Amino acid sequence: MANPNSNHAVVRTEDLRKDLKLGEVTVHAVRGVSLTVAPGEFLGIIGPSGSGKSTLLGMIGGLDTPTGGKVFIDGQDISNLDERALTRVRNEKIGFVFQFFNLIPTLSALENVALPLQFARKRKHNPAKRARELLDMLGLEDRKNHRPAQLSGGEQQRVALARALVNDPPLLLGDEPTGNLDTFSSEIVIKALRTAQAEMGTTIIIVTHNMDIAAQMDRLISLVDGKIAEDRDARASARLAAVQMLRDKRQSGEISMFPTSPR
Ligand code: ADP
Ligand code: MG
Repeated sequence: MANPNSNHAVVRTEDLRKDLKLGEVTVHAVRGVSLTVAPGEFLGIIGPSGSGKSTLLGMIGGLDTPTGGKVFIDGQDISNLDERALTRVRNEKIGFVFQFFNLIPTLSALENVALPLQFARKRKHNPAKRARELLDMLGLEDRKNHRPAQLSGGEQQRVALARALVNDPPLLLGDEPTGNLDTFSSEIVIKALRTAQAEMGTTIIIVTHNMDIAAQMDRLISLVDGKIAEDRDARASARLAAVQMLRDKRQSGEISMFPTSPR
């Protein structure tokens, strides 16, 4: 049955599964994940190491094929596509950022960003012009001619983000995109993701194990043992946590229920 909402979801998974056979042993890396992500959502995926975050993200991004269930990207079922068709979906619909920036060391920032457009089947933009616009958007206007080694980690990751956005993908996926960055650079990269969300309407899903970063997502999913253990509005849960903390402090007498006004 066609779901009437399926055309509006950028990502929809239905009972998604991945079993990995290691000799005699089968690892159930993802064990039935059903998830709908609406256009423009900024979703975080958290969970312990080995809980299946990368495997789930890989299947959503068409880098890995499911052993059960379905993945729809922009309404298209990609669960059973061959490698050639998957490559096309990835090129046209999905931008990727990883923990390591994977920039080409001999090319300038501008050339790195423009590169995917040089190979695009349908070119919507002039590559150099579009690369310049994106680098400007992400605050790298004076870094265009630098090579990766001449840039900080945060700058390199913003170049990688600009490269991921150069084909205007509706969906951006990040596996620990701040995993290799200090707090300051991480904040800059999250701001850059917010800019992409606001300026281009990009739907963003990132895996992170940094709770300060997770707290900034619009929605958070926790994976435990390959299943969704919790799916919540991150800001609402931060408010609930604050209220609970006040309640605990009042109960323990640490703060007064009726504070006296200062004289
Ligand atoms: P996370 O990203 O949350 O740390 P992963 O998705 O990488 O978790 O891994 C989920 C489970 O699948 C783990 O138990 C891991 O050991 C296993 N796994 C992941 N990739 C492979 C692989 N290529 N071969 C065998 N087992 C794997
Ligand atoms: Mg991982």
